[in-house]
Amino acid sequence: METKPDGISVMVVDDEQDIRDGSERILTRAGFQVLKASRGDEALEALAKEKVSIVLLDLKMPGMDGMEALKHIRILDETILVIVITGYATVETAIEAMKRGAYDFISKPFDPDQLRIVVNRAWEKIYLKQEAEALEEEKKRTLVDLDTEKSRIHTIVEYLPNGVIVTNSKGYVVLMNPAFRQLMDLDPDLKTGQPIDHYIADRGLCDLVMEISQGRHVDYEDIPDYEFAIANEKFLLARGQPVLGERKECLGAVINVADISAMKLLDQLKSEFVAKVSHELRSPLSTIHEQLALVIRDMMEETTEQDQQILNRAKEKTKGLIALIGDLLDLSRIEEGLICKDPKPVQIEDLLESVVDFLKTQAKAKDQSITLSLPEEPLSHFMADPVALESIFGNLITNAINYTPAGGNIHVQADMAGTNLRVKVIDNGFGIDDKYFDKIFERFYRVKDEKTRYITGTGLGLPIVKELVDSMGGLIDLDSTLGEGTTFTVLLPTQRDL
Ligand code: ATP
Ligand code: MG
Repeated sequence: METKPDGISVMVVDDEQDIRDGSERILTRAGFQVLKASRGDEALEALAKEKVSIVLLDLKMPGMDGMEALKHIRILDETILVIVITGYATVETAIEAMKRGAYDFISKPFDPDQLRIVVNRAWEKIYLKQEAEALEEEKKRTLVDLDTEKSRIHTIVEYLPNGVIVTNSKGYVVLMNPAFRQLMDLDPDLKTGQPIDHYIADRGLCDLVMEISQGRHVDYEDIPDYEFAIANEKFLLARGQPVLGERKECLGAVINVADISAMKLLDQLKSEFVAKVSHELRSPLSTIHEQLALVIRDMMEETTEQDQQILNRAKEKTKGLIALIGDLLDLSRIEEGLICKDPKPVQIEDLLESVVDFLKTQAKAKDQSITLSLPEEPLSHFMADPVALESIFGNLITNAINYTPAGGNIHVQADMAGTNLRVKVIDNGFGIDDKYFDKIFERFYRVKDEKTRYITGTGLGLPIVKELVDSMGGLIDLDSTLGEGTTFTVLLPTQRDL
């Protein structure tokens, strides 16, 4: 026996007991809850108390007749579906009853199937109506949710301390929050809807926004941040991401702009502090280093082997510290723009030869060969700071020596690429995994694996090289295969207004 959901009860109103009991049996078996009444007024009384969905109503009853009862039921609860029970001769009355709001009719005498069909039809109607109402209710609720969600997001964007703009795929601004207007010094009433360059003067930022909006960045992880300065020594940092549709198509861009002036100032203070401390530490450390060297030399015979080892280790450590301080000072000088301030005409062939020569002893100690190849044609002479150039090639060649096992080969090769000087430092050493290609140019970053673990260094060499190359308007690139070797390529413009 199937059961109908709660609340579906049927009332059978008939003066004939057989009909009442017979219907009760059939309908209960079909899963309905059944109530019975033998008269119209009795039915109305019960309906006022109980929730009934379907009423089977005999039209011909003593006392209040069916038609009268129908009228009252309709007044009481018009959602009740009334099925009238008619005799053979009263089809017309049945039609009349339908006109007055009855839902269906069934003629007497009826068999169980007929009853089941007619009541089930009414039940289906109720069921569908309930479903439709539930759906409608849910739709309303979702709309309310959406509405509150929308206003919540709107409020968040409005009150974000960072500037936010959203563009469409053509680079037109569709949303701009008050913080953005304030950061960019825009009129608070300025309307959206114009291309990005209507609001932003900085060319580089406009280009970045256009690129992201038009979906030209394939790798979303790799979209560069953009730092720029505006009036009153304010520094801003913009970060953008594409807005993607369901099929991952680019619909536009969201750009977040933060004021980083305070951070910039802190950075500057930090650099000044580092420079000062390094400077103060350098001479006492050099003195300690020299004195240790003296002690080691003079007390060779008197000290035990163990003490000698300790002293040697101390000397090595101070040497490392002096190198670190040297690097830190170099960096702060680059930051202050002190390096490359004093350009002189450089003879690049001579400069490379002397750097390679100087590092030959280091290579020899590791049984490595180091060669320099220069083109037949003389390289262009150009104006640059020779100390900066020595630092660039010195660092790259030292790395090649350090990160190549004993017996390896280091090759330095210089030529002209158009008006650019091109220098390659090639080794057949450990190589670098390409996931570290960007990282190794960050300060203090060192790749730590089984092979490089025991090589000492501070991770400042390449950042110095990169800053110097940048400040000369050049480029540095690397190509490397793990286990095969690395090539660093430096390109420096030789015809540049300084
Ligand atoms: P230092 O500040 O003394 O130069 P460092 O050599 O560790 O220390 P970087 O010169 O900045 O620092 O190099 C960073 C890292 O890049 C190194 O630790 C090393 O792992 C890797 N690296 C640099 N050059 C090479 C190379 N030619 N072959 C393999 N790995 C290299
Ligand atoms: Mg190095």
